[in-house]
Formats: sequence, structure tokens, C-alpha cells
Amino acid sequence: MSVVVLGSANLDLVYEVDRIPAPGETVLSRGFEAFPGGKGNNQAIAAARAGADVSFIVALGRDSAADRLAEQATGAGIHLLDRRAGAPTGSAIIFVDRRGENSIVVNSGANAELVDLTAAELRDIASAGVLVLQLETPIATVEAAVRAAKATDTAVVLNAAPSGAVPAELLGQIDILVVNEHEAAELAGEPDGTGERSLLSVLTGHGCAVIITLGADGALVGVPGESPVRVAALKVDAKDTTGAGDAFVGAFAAALDRAERSADLSALVEATEFATAAAALAVQRKGAVPSIPTLEEVRKFRE
Ligand code: ADP
Repeated sequence: MSVVVLGSANLDLVYEVDRIPAPGETVLSRGFEAFPGGKGNNQAIAAARAGADVSFIVALGRDSAADRLAEQATGAGIHLLDRRAGAPTGSAIIFVDRRGENSIVVNSGANAELVDLTAAELRDIASAGVLVLQLETPIATVEAAVRAAKATDTAVVLNAAPSGAVPAELLGQIDILVVNEHEAAELAGEPDGTGERSLLSVLTGHGCAVIITLGADGALVGVPGESPVRVAALKVDAKDTTGAGDAFVGAFAAALDRAERSADLSALVEATEFATAAAALAVQRKGAVPSIPTLEEVRKFRE
């Protein structure tokens, strides 16, 4: 089978500063690096490294950032279905201070132009084992992709990140919702938080399976009408949890694709255990994309 990821790609411009500039202030950077990022890009790479045959539907600009992102994706073995938009490639400016606090500005750029899916893209979605979506793409495009997946039995995984509103009707059409605790609380309409089990029960009420990731506390997996299952995180020395969620979602999609259309509770728990191991490896290394492990590494780690 195969995994189709539809989503964003950004070039992350990271400036190390002594302190984040206040309004009107100019500060000098102590270091600068540009990293490929964006949730769609990171999850596509995580699924490919986890052994899936991956296609990535994305909008890039006509600029050098696009070339860099495209080169990295194809280098990871991804079948890149990119369109070149009029807007520049998505980017993020990230200031990181000495304490590790950050301040981020994102320009969606070309990502906002990922609209009007082509007949070939819709066919790819319909013939895939798993479709992976996030919320950094226009919601009408997400909805069109879900419709194409539902016309066949492609399993739809929605990572509802970054947190924001999702039409209830869309939640009723997807198969598996993956969210962190903060996103779960927002979606359940409980922004002040409540226990993860009650969040899970509100969200499975839409009719989809739900996985709530809980950082170092692991994940909670539930399907409508059955008792949820807790998957513990692996005890590791976490160095950088940036992109842990993306490593998790990509690895989860690859494992689910290998399960060949079985998305019952036990298949979901098994895929979550695999994703938990991949994410535990990722948080021990620096960076989002560079930290994503290969299938070989995950298998060795689980032995
Ligand atoms: P996000 O990055 O979207 O906020 P989480 O922080 O919930 O997502 O992390 C996703 C997954 O990564 C967790 O379910 C867990 O498996 C793994 N993970 C995150 N932080 C740690 C940690 N400190 N130790 C071990 N695993 C972790």
C-alpha cells in the first residue's frame, strides 16, 4: 500500500539571540541556520523513514527554498507531487534565546495556494492505504481530500495541528484524529483542560478513533464505544522535543499502512506503540527533521 501526505512545507529560519527583541529593538544574532520544516514535510519524511511508500502533495514557491525542500524530500525517497505557486515558499522566522524560549512568525506563503486538487492527485488519494492531513493547508482542500479518500477505503488520519477550529462534520468523516493534549482541549471546547479520558470521550463522540499524545506521559488511544488504552512513553533522556508530534504521526501512518486497512483498536494500539518508539528516538536528538529515525533504528530500539 502507500501513504499520501497532503500538507505544508516551510523553510524554518532559526536565529539564536541573547534575548528576543522587544518592539522597536534591534539585536544581533549569535548564530543562524535554515532548516526544512512544516508539518506536512516533517510527517512525510517521518513516514518515508519508517518504511512507507510516500507521496507528498504540497505547494512550493518558485524560489531557492522550494528547491531545497524538494531536494530533501526526493532524497528521502518521497514521490513529490509539488505545484509551484505565485507566492513564496512558506517560511518561519524563529528566535531562540539563551534559555531556549522562542518567538515565531510564520508566513504561509505558497501553502495557502494548495487548492483545487488535480484529478491525478485525487486518484492517488483514493488508491492509498492511508491519507495524512494537518491544519496548515486551506480547510476546503483538506475537505476535498477527505471526500476523495472516503470514496474508497483509504484510512484518513487528521493531525489537527496547529490547534484551531475543525468543522464537526469533518471530524465525523475522518477515521483517526491525532492531537496533543492542548489541541484536544481546544477541539473538545474545554480550553482550560479537563482529564484526558474525558477529552477522549468528547472527541470519539464525533465517530472517529482518537489518539491523544501526552508528551513524556505517552498516548491515549480510543475508538467510539470501547474503553481507551494507554500506551506509555519510553523512558529516554529528552534533548529536543521539537517535532516529536510530527515524528509520531509519520511513523504511525507508516505502521497503519503496513496493517493493510485494519484500523480496529488493537491495530491502532500496535501502530501507536511503533510511533511511540520512533518519537522516543527523535526526542533524544536535536532538530525536527534530522532527528527522525529510520525503520531499522526503530526496530533495533524495540528489540
Ligand atoms: P507535540 O510535539 O505535538 O506536542 P507530544 O509532546 O505529545 O506532541 O509528543 C508526541 C509523542 O512523542 C508522545 O506521545 C511520546 O510518544 C513522544 N514524546 C514526547 N516527549 C517525550 C519525552 N520527553 N520522552 C519520551 N517520549 C516523548
